[in-house]
Order: sequence, then structure tokens, then C-alpha cells
Amino acid sequence: MNIGIVRGFFRDITRRINTHISQIVSGSTQELQATRHRNNNIFVVRNFNTTAIMSNAFLNGNLWDTDPELFEIIKKEKQRQASGLEMIASENFTSVPVLQCLSSCLHNKYSEGMPHQRYYGGNEFIDEIEIMAQQRSLEAYRLKSEDWGVNVQPYSGSPANFAVYTGIVEPHGRIMGLDLPDGGHLTHGFFTATKKISATSIFFESMPYKVDTKTGLIDYDKLAETARLFKPRLIIAGISCYSRCLDYKRFRQIADENGAILMADMAHISGLVAAGVIPSPFDVCDIVTTTTHKTLRGPRAGVIFYRKGVRSVNAKGEKIMYDFENKINQAVFPGLQGGPHNHAIAAIATAMKQATMPEFVEYQRQVIKNAQRLCEGLKSRGYEIATGGTDVHLVLVDMRNGGLTGARAERILELCSIACNKNTVPGDKSALNPSGIRLGTPALTTRGLKETDIDRVVDYIDQALKLAQEITKISGPKLVDFNKVTVENADIKTKINNLKEDIETYSRSFSLPGYETY
Ligand SMILES: *Cc1c(COP(=O)(O)O)cnc(C)c1O
Repeated sequence: MNIGIVRGFFRDITRRINTHISQIVSGSTQELQATRHRNNNIFVVRNFNTTAIMSNAFLNGNLWDTDPELFEIIKKEKQRQASGLEMIASENFTSVPVLQCLSSCLHNKYSEGMPHQRYYGGNEFIDEIEIMAQQRSLEAYRLKSEDWGVNVQPYSGSPANFAVYTGIVEPHGRIMGLDLPDGGHLTHGFFTATKKISATSIFFESMPYKVDTKTGLIDYDKLAETARLFKPRLIIAGISCYSRCLDYKRFRQIADENGAILMADMAHISGLVAAGVIPSPFDVCDIVTTTTHKTLRGPRAGVIFYRKGVRSVNAKGEKIMYDFENKINQAVFPGLQGGPHNHAIAAIATAMKQATMPEFVEYQRQVIKNAQRLCEGLKSRGYEIATGGTDVHLVLVDMRNGGLTGARAERILELCSIACNKNTVPGDKSALNPSGIRLGTPALTTRGLKETDIDRVVDYIDQALKLAQEITKISGPKLVDFNKVTVENADIKTKINNLKEDIETYSRSFSLPGYETY
């Protein structure tokens, strides 16, 4: 008997034993649970091959039984999410259906390639799901399949952007994006005087455009001027921290004037765009990338939309076609990625379905109303807001006139269970010591907070920031000394803890989607 036959024989025996065990132990999960309870967690099948039983417990048991040590930490994170006020503008609480896709059997499947052109067999249902995710992505943004194609395979927003650059821009081709300290994203090409930080600036030549330091608004005239000199291959219209709608038409003019491709990176605002509550980049852009886990409230993943069909007609009357489809698809795979994350792709499909529902539009409207209320509330208490207001889901607060830094503001809020992040504000001298904080409303709005609840949140933020000023009086300006006072000064510690308890009690009065304990 050759070794293959021997292996096959043992595989067959093992499979039969496993089938037998699973028939006995887990006709259904409930039955498995019941059996366990009855037998005090000792499997009735103990008289079978012990190794097989052990692995069965590992394979079919619940995490809380198989790895309580890890599960305890996950439970603590859930508690943290439920007890705090989540105001990081890029975060959200995704839905149970999305979580269910993410923990489904789809996770097991390899499916390199595009639907109906896979490198592996067994993909008939995976194909169905990916095609559904593509169709629903187009529907969510009211796009026709003749005009737009979509790739739903990028693992996240950063790989999606890098795939576009890889496919469309030659190595060392030129890219212009909003500078990181001005509200752009790392992947738009960030570099400093001494170091190329983002791979976008290593493999491509990036030139930033900026906001006007007085108004905080994008300086489109300056962008136009720089673009004329730099002649970029690609201009990116996209933000991670900018509270105003973008002037896509102006971007288009500047791109056209220089023969550049216009890409929108709508990662932060893709939920607002799907709901139609802010202007859409699809009207004038050539390529649109997004994450699906921010305002869109789907899984942690990325998507690339690209134009298809006739791009222009030349002087001879010949049609010039868009050539993005193959370039982008091939950059995603095999260029940069391997097997698609099918569980995430299914979750995109269901998130995009949710994005077409009236409740979703209502949610996004409320996200903006809450951000505007937050902005008004902070202004009425004397805080300065970059650009003076917001059209979207976020607010950039300038802490300079309150004598605080972004780091100290972020720290005190964190100690009081309000999550946000420090951020540069227009005119900041140093990107390492930013003067502002970025606050967003998508996550709180998912938990059901309305305008009057936001008033209460404003009050909490104000109390915390006043406490930070009090601490600064004791500590002086250094962050290390500030942190020291928060842990060593008994009076301050009591004040922080009292405020934190109030905030946590308040936060826990709102539910959040997901599983009960994890
Ligand atoms: C968040 C973000 C990304 C990157 O997304 P990741 O999923 O974190 O890689 C890209 N562009 C913009 C504008 C973003 O805000």
C-alpha cells in the first residue's frame, strides 16, 4: 500500500469518527450546550478517541469556555465601549448583521481572482456574494453599471488607495493630496523634511495642498497654482479632519486644466454621501475610494469605484474609453493582495443594503444635526471651532485660546471616558504638538443620542476641559507633569473620578448594537 492510500485511509477513519462525534454531541448548538450541562461539561463521548474529542471541544466550544482568559479581555473592551462616550470621528458601532457576516463560514474560503475567474474551485456562492456586494455598492450611491465599476476586495482604506496609485500612477508619478496636518490622510502622501512617512511618498512623488491658516478652508487658488507647476497625474479630494463639504467642481477644473485624474477618498463621509445629505463626489470624479467602517457603519474594509465606458470623443470622432477597470482590479489582485476577505465582502453587501434604507438616511441627518449642535454648544461656551462650524459629522476644536494643548485636552477627556483625538489646527507651528481635538458624532448617533443629549455631552466636555485648566495651573505646561498631577493629586483625582462616574452612568443609559457581552 503506498503512503497516499494509507493517509487516505486514516483520513477516512478520522472523518467517520468526527462525524459520529458531532452527531452525538452537537445535533445543534443547543443540544451541545444541554449535553454539556447535563454532564457537567464532560463529554458523553469520552469512550471515543480522546484526541478527536479534545479537538472537537476546541473546534465547537464557545470562546468563553475554550479561552476564558482572552474572553475576559474582550468583555472588558465591550464594557469600555458601553461606558464611554465614543467621539472619535472615524469610529462607529456596526450592526449585528455585519458582525454575523464577519464571524461566518465565509471566512474559511480562498477565492483569489474576480467572480467567475477564480484560482480555486468551490466559489459558486462566494461569486454570488461578491457580485451582490458589487451591485449593492453601486445602488447605495445610485450609480449605473454602464458608467461605474467597483472593486470590493481591498482589505481596508489604505490598501484601497495604494491599489489605485499602483494601478493608475506610474512609479514616481506625481500625486497631490491635502496635507496631513491640514486634515488629509497619511495615505495621501505624507512626508516631512527628514523622512518619507507614507509609502505613497516613497513610491510616488507627492506634493501637498493646504488650508488657509486664517479661514481653515482649503486654499483652492493655491492648489490650482501649485498644480500648474507640479502637473500631477492624480489629485485626491479627500479628508480625515475637515468639517466642510468639498468643492468637487473646483477640483475637477483644476484636474482638467492639468490633465490629471481626479480621485475622491470619501472614507470619512461615505455614509453621508450614500444618504444624499451632502454633495456626492461621483458627479465629477474619475475614481472614488472609501472605507466601509466609518460613517457608512459597515465592516472594516475598503472599496474602489472607477468610471467605465466612454471618456471622451476625439477630433476624429473616435471614442476614447476609460481604462481604469483592469488596471485597478489587477493592482488589487495579484498586484498587492492575495485572497479576498469574503466575510468582509458579505458584510459590505449587507451594509450597502442598509445604506439604501430610510432609517439610514434619518441616521445620517441626525449625525449632522448632532455635529452642528455640538459645534454651537461649544461655541456658546467660548471654544473656538476651526472654519467656524461644520457641514458634516465632525468638529475641530481649537484649544489655543483656552490655554490648553490638544494632548492635554485629549488626555483629560480620556480620563473622564470621552474618547476623541488630538489634531493639528490651521496655523499650528508643530505637527508633533497639535493644538486641537477632533470630535465626531457618528458613534454617539448610532447609540441614539439626539440634540438635547448632545447638550449634555457639551456640558461634560466643558467640565472636563475646565478641570484640565485647573490641572495646568498646578502642573505647568508640560504633559508629563500634567499626567503626574492627574494620578498624584488627591483632590484632582476625586474630581476626575466623580466626573468620569457621571459620564459613564449617563453613557450606559444608551444601548449599542452588537452582542450583549462581547
Ligand atoms: C480612514 C481613512 C483611510 C484609511 O483607512 P484604513 O481602513 O484605516 O486603512 C484612508 N483615507 C481616509 C481619508 C481616511 O479617513
